[in-house]
Amino acid sequence: MPRPVRIFQHPNSLLVGHVRNLLEGAGVECELRNWTLAGGMGDLAPIDCEPELWVATRDEARARAVIEQWRQSAEVSSSPGARLSRGWRCQRCGEWHEAHFDTCWQCGHERPDP
Ligand SMILES: [Zn+2]
Repeated sequence: MPRPVRIFQHPNSLLVGHVRNLLEGAGVECELRNWTLAGGMGDLAPIDCEPELWVATRDEARARAVIEQWRQSAEVSSSPGARLSRGWRCQRCGEWHEAHFDTCWQCGHERPDP
């Protein structure tokens, strides 16, 4: 196993999990560190133990490309017009989500059928 590199970190473990799904969907194996859901869904972890995603050095470029693409699509779809036409609201907790998310960040509820 080549020495891994940290590719992503965020205090919201659900978001980190989402990025992990994107990476694995792109064929990139990744490892979660500092992963915990202690304290309940949606709570932020203390800064010194933010969930992190690590990938093998050989996958770093591909992983960064996947994350960059995800960030750009998130920015585009968070503009007001796109939000209205493409976003969806969780039926359980009322949280707004961008169109490319299939499950709620807050409570894990699945996107309702259109
Ligand atoms: Zn929800």
